Amino acid sequence: MGIIVQKFGGTSVADATKVKNVAKRIVRTQEEGHQVAVVVSAMGDTTDQLTFLAHEISANPPDRELAMLLSTGEQVSIALLAMAVTELGYQAISLTGTQVGIVTGGFYSEARIQHINDSRILSELDKGKIVILAGFQGVSIDNEITTLGRGASDTTATAVAATLGADRCEIYTDVDGVYTADPRVVPNARKLSRITYDEMFEMAQLGAKVLHSRSVEIAKKFDVPLHVRSSFGEDEGTMVVKDSVMIEEVVISGVTSDKDQAKISLLGLPDTPGIAAQIFQKVADANINIDMIIQNAGQDETADISFTVAEKDLAPTLGIVESLKSNMGFRSISTDKTIAKISAIGIGMQSHVGIAARMFSALGTEGVNIQMISTSEIKISCAIDERHTERAVRAVHDEFELGNVAS
Ligand code: ASP
Ligand code: MG
Repeated sequence: MGIIVQKFGGTSVADATKVKNVAKRIVRTQEEGHQVAVVVSAMGDTTDQLTFLAHEISANPPDRELAMLLSTGEQVSIALLAMAVTELGYQAISLTGTQVGIVTGGFYSEARIQHINDSRILSELDKGKIVILAGFQGVSIDNEITTLGRGASDTTATAVAATLGADRCEIYTDVDGVYTADPRVVPNARKLSRITYDEMFEMAQLGAKVLHSRSVEIAKKFDVPLHVRSSFGEDEGTMVVKDSVMIEEVVISGVTSDKDQAKISLLGLPDTPGIAAQIFQKVADANINIDMIIQNAGQDETADISFTVAEKDLAPTLGIVESLKSNMGFRSISTDKTIAKISAIGIGMQSHVGIAARMFSALGTEGVNIQMISTSEIKISCAIDERHTERAVRAVHDEFELGNVAS
């Protein structure tokens, strides 16, 4: 009998009625002849509320205690869901990350899964039980409770599916699949029936909230078929598949935006070898991810460098560059939180020319100034003024004719 992993997000288990509905769906899957392992998020916005509460107590709560606190959200939802399944006359058992042995690296937050012990899950499944696992949490080798980063229940689910060799991993959420753009921004955005792992990974990284990017990485690595679908309806959602499965040629699959971006500019740097290396090494040592970078030759043998980081990393990054300033002898530092990154993603870029030019001209026609650009094989990103985000997304979406044809 094959195993199916089903993951339900916070909105899918936001109240008792929704929990009961999820229980019915899980039970039906078992009735269809599968062994079912379920991964659940905390109910509704519990994780936000717990975070808020922690910050009412302390401006800087200790990482260990924050992980201890946030992990309780999922403990509530797994217990309630197991009760709901039992109530329907089926057998279920809830398990925390510690009970399973979802072993992570040493950090308390943003911890990475290193290993999942499959023995407890398999033995419960073999007893005919539906196994309900807490998403988002793990345990370090020192027996400390860890969390995997916001939105990471998806990652728990794909990692569990990979470990169990599941037939597929179904991600149930409050939207009915992956769209060419956020439908709240682009009303004629189209639901994709398929998308490749690589495109999905980029979309998740570049602002699409539908999946946690690490979950896509794991699914790709272990060849786990992923199905993103709605927990409130029966429609087929979006299948995340290997490149080779894509038969029709699409050039661009989606357009995303991300306003949680900030730009830092270092002006009047000495224009000598090794300067950029020193700066970016220090930033990397602090585990901060830098995305777009531009360097211009300035005046009198100096150079200016601008780069972007996630807005949450602005303060620590600023601290680092301030500390380098006098030593390296550069003139000034400026920052800008009002930028957004908009990106076009598609594996078709590998075989089509002129995609970047089309994106730039769509933005130009809209009067949107491009401040920075970065590209890879399957994506083009532009930093723009945050105020133009929605308009820019619509313009690029139109340019590549991604929307539904008006009927
Ligand atoms: N409950 C966690 C969060 O809100 C994990 C998740 O929902 O995936 O980030
Ligand atoms: Mg999510």
